[in-house]
Amino acid sequence: MQNKELYYETLHQGYGQYFEVKKMLFEQHTEQWHLSIFETNALGRVMALNGAIQTTERDEFIYHEMLTHVPLLAHGHAKRVLIIGGGDGGILREVVKHRDVEAITMVEIDAAVVDMCKSYFPKHSDGAYDDPRLALVIQDGLDYVRSAADKFDVVISDCTDPVGPGEVLFSSEFYQHCKRLLNDNGIFVAQNGVPFLQEDEVSNTVRRMHSYVKDCTFYQAAVPTYVGGIMTFVWATDDIAAKQLSVAELEARFTRAGLATRYYTPALHQASFALPAYVQRAVASA
Ligand code: SAM
Repeated sequence: MQNKELYYETLHQGYGQYFEVKKMLFEQHTEQWHLSIFETNALGRVMALNGAIQTTERDEFIYHEMLTHVPLLAHGHAKRVLIIGGGDGGILREVVKHRDVEAITMVEIDAAVVDMCKSYFPKHSDGAYDDPRLALVIQDGLDYVRSAADKFDVVISDCTDPVGPGEVLFSSEFYQHCKRLLNDNGIFVAQNGVPFLQEDEVSNTVRRMHSYVKDCTFYQAAVPTYVGGIMTFVWATDDIAAKQLSVAELEARFTRAGLATRYYTPALHQASFALPAYVQRAVASA
């Protein structure tokens, strides 16, 4: 149910958020999506794909900082990073801040998302598409990982929800290939939904991923735009110590990296692995 003044998100049945639309800036069918970009007073510019809110100018930093700096700082010496999805450019912006990273491959299914976000959300990528370390590939993420031979230290899946084109990025086959592409002690992370409303996503991911890695768990952050409470990020690696670094060690790495953040802090990083009991139960039930 959408009209010119109000935009209703249609992701969850019978529950959701709406925005007062100051101005609709872009609304078209692209190759993969119905892409909407509109201006709001509440959260600045907002992007939706097929009726599901993807990002807003006002709160994007929470999601992008947590999905990037937690694995990169935990890894400690990542040189090669793979981003799957991420067409708004926010993850890329945060990855390029890591000077030790030598090569970044980003695989996005729809060029129109990249192009429109460069135009309407310039601060999301903030020039990162011009970084010489980047190889941008326009391809389905599952197709890419199936045939890829390169190895990576960190793989970040900044995907849509597990419906439509994004569904394959939650499949066992996708997880298995991502694990194959990781160097020893590499780390895979992915957005994994809001467990209060999408509890199956946690247990499904554990069921599909746990046999490939020694450690499969989640960390969390509250992102206002992803309604329903905390959002989970899956964390998968053979390095079982990677999530247990002390705050002092994370502080040292954070300072050495010279990062300036608005949400991420080393203390929050460590605390983000503490999960509510209902999420722990979903993990255990898998
Ligand atoms: N942060 C958002 C969220 O939590 O819902 C998602 C951000 S948006 C940048 C996700 C991106 O994944 C979109 O640009 C979309 O085109 C891309 N995507 C979806 N399915 C994909 C696939 N199969 N392969 C590669 N990219 C995909």
